[in-house]
Amino acid sequence: MTFALQGLCAGKGIAIGRLYLADKGQLEVTEYTLNAPEVESEVERFRQALDTARSELLSVRQHIPPGTPAEIAAFLEAHLLMLEDSALTRAPEELIRERRWNAEWALKVQRDSLAAVFEEMDDPYLRTRRDDVDHVVGRIQRILLRHDRPRPDAGDSGLAGTVVFARDLTPADAVLLQQQGILGFVTELGGPTSHTAILARSLRLPALVGLHQARSYLRENDLVVIDGRAGVLLVDPDPRLVRFYQGRQRDIQRHRTARQKIASAPARTADGQDISLRANIELPEDVQSARRAGAAGVGLYRTEYLFMNRQTPPGEEEQYEAYASVARAMRGAPVTIRTLDMGADKGFLSPREGRPSPNPALGLRAIRLCLREPAMFRDQLRAILRASAHGAVRLLVPMISGLQELQQVLALLAEVRLSLERESLPFDPAMPIGAMIEVPASAVCADLFARRMDFLSIGTNDLIQYTLAIDRVDDEVNYLYDPLNPAVLRLIQQTLRAGRRAGVPVAMCGEMAGNPRYTRLLLGLGLREFSVPPNALLEVKQVLAASDAQRLAAMVRRLMRTSALEARAELAEAINNASVPQSTAPAP
Ligand code: PEP
Ligand code: MG
Repeated sequence: MTFALQGLCAGKGIAIGRLYLADKGQLEVTEYTLNAPEVESEVERFRQALDTARSELLSVRQHIPPGTPAEIAAFLEAHLLMLEDSALTRAPEELIRERRWNAEWALKVQRDSLAAVFEEMDDPYLRTRRDDVDHVVGRIQRILLRHDRPRPDAGDSGLAGTVVFARDLTPADAVLLQQQGILGFVTELGGPTSHTAILARSLRLPALVGLHQARSYLRENDLVVIDGRAGVLLVDPDPRLVRFYQGRQRDIQRHRTARQKIASAPARTADGQDISLRANIELPEDVQSARRAGAAGVGLYRTEYLFMNRQTPPGEEEQYEAYASVARAMRGAPVTIRTLDMGADKGFLSPREGRPSPNPALGLRAIRLCLREPAMFRDQLRAILRASAHGAVRLLVPMISGLQELQQVLALLAEVRLSLERESLPFDPAMPIGAMIEVPASAVCADLFARRMDFLSIGTNDLIQYTLAIDRVDDEVNYLYDPLNPAVLRLIQQTLRAGRRAGVPVAMCGEMAGNPRYTRLLLGLGLREFSVPPNALLEVKQVLAASDAQRLAAMVRRLMRTSALEARAELAEAINNASVPQSTAPAP
C-alpha cells in the first residue's frame, strides 16, 4: 500500500528506484585490552585506517563536480587537515600504547574528550567544527570496523540505480554515492541549508533530509519515489503514481535542455524589459559556472571564503591575484567584490581572544569587524582597487547600518587611493562603490545611502533575519523566515523607490533573488538587477522571459495594499500563475 513520508527538500527533482538502506545498524565500538606484543600492530592498523580515510577524501576531492560551491571544497580541505592533526593521529596512538586499548576505543575516547572541549564553546562556527570532527572520526571508525558503508573503492557496489537511505550523510559521502550511480538519497537528520544539501543541489541529486524516525517504516528494496520539490518520499507507489512521476521526470528533463539553450540569450521580460542577471560567487573558480550559465557579470563576490580555514588573513598580493583573476575572466562584465563579511555564522580566522559575543549576529561582524581591524581592511581595499585595473570592478560594503560607518569607509578608501597613486600602482579612479542594504536601518534610510553611493544591493538573507528578529541559522525559528512578510516587502519596495528617485541602480543578491518563486513578485516591485547562484540563473531567466513586468506591477501594487492573510496568499499565487505567452511558459 502506498504511503508518504514528509521531509525537507535538499535537492529538487524526481528519483524512482529501489531503496538501499545504508547504516544497517549503528557503529558499535567496543573496548578490549591488547596483549603487550599486539600493541605495535594495533598502532599500525590505526595508521592504515588513517591512510585509507585520506585516500577516500582525496578521491572525493577529485570528483567534485564543476559548479559546486567553493565552500564544499574548503570543507573537504578541513577534513583532510584534521587527518594530519595530532589530536586525531598522535593522541589515539598514545592511548593505544599507554592503555593498551584497541584502536576503535582509543579513537572513541579521544573523540569524546574533543567533543567536551567543543561543548564549552558558544561560537556557532566552532560548534560546526565539532560536527567536522565527528564526520572524520566516523569515517576512520567505519574503516577500522570494516563497516558496510559505501566506499569509493567498492567498484560495482550494487548501489547504481538505487535510492539510498541513511541516518546522516557527510558531503563526502554524497559525492561518493553519486559516483556510484545512485538516483537520490534520503536522510533522517540534516537541514536544507546543510553542506550535504548544498552539495546535493550541485550534483543535481533529488534528495530529502530531516525524515526523523523514517527508518522504522522502510525496508530494503522497497520501491520509492523522491519528490524533491514537494519534500515527499512515496513508499510502494501504485503503478499509476509511478507513471505520473515518470512523466514529471521527462518534463523536468525537457525544461533543463530548453534552459541550457537560453544561456547565451539576453535576460528580458516578455514585454521587452531588459534585466541584469548576474551571478553570486564565492571563490575565483566559481567564475566558470557563472560564465557557463551566461551571467552578465558577478553581482556578489563573497570574499570571506578566501579568509576561511586558515590561521592568518591572506595578504594584499594574494587577494589582488584572486580578485584580478575574476575581473579578467569576466572580460569586461561588472564584477562586484564585497569586502570581508566575517563574524556570526561565518566565524573568524581563529577563535578571537576575549569574551565571546553574547549575540554574534548582532555583534562584531562584516564592516564593523573591518573597521576594527584597519590594517587588514586596508590590505583588502588596496587589493580590490588594484584589481580594478583589470576589469569592470565594483566595490560593495556589507552590513552598513549608518552614515557614520560609510564615512569611515570612504575616508579609508581615499587614503588607499592616495597611497596607490604615490606608488604608481594602476587602478580605476572611477571604481563604483555600493552599499548592501541588509539591516533594516539602512533600508529605512535607503534614500540617504542612495544619494552617496553609485549603487545599492539588497541582501535579503540578512534583511529578513534582522527585520523579523530570526536567527537565520537557528532551526527552531526557521519556520518564521518569511520573505513575503509585509515588513520585508515594504523595506524592499522602499529601497527600490529610493534608488529610482536618486537615479541609482538597486540590485538584489540575497537568496530571494535566486528563488524562481519570487522572481515575478520582485519584478512587479520594480527590481531590474538580480544576482543569483549560478545554478539558479537559467531558471530565473526562464521565468523572467515568461513574465509581463507591467502587468505584474499592477498585481503587486494590489498585494501591497492587501492585509488579510488568505487574500495575500491568493494574490501571491496569482502573481506566479499570471498567464504568459505559451512558448515561454516557466518550468514545472
Ligand atoms: C544577504 O545577507 O542576503 C547576503 C547576500 O549576504 P550573506 O548571505 O553573505 O550574508
Ligand atoms: Mg548578508
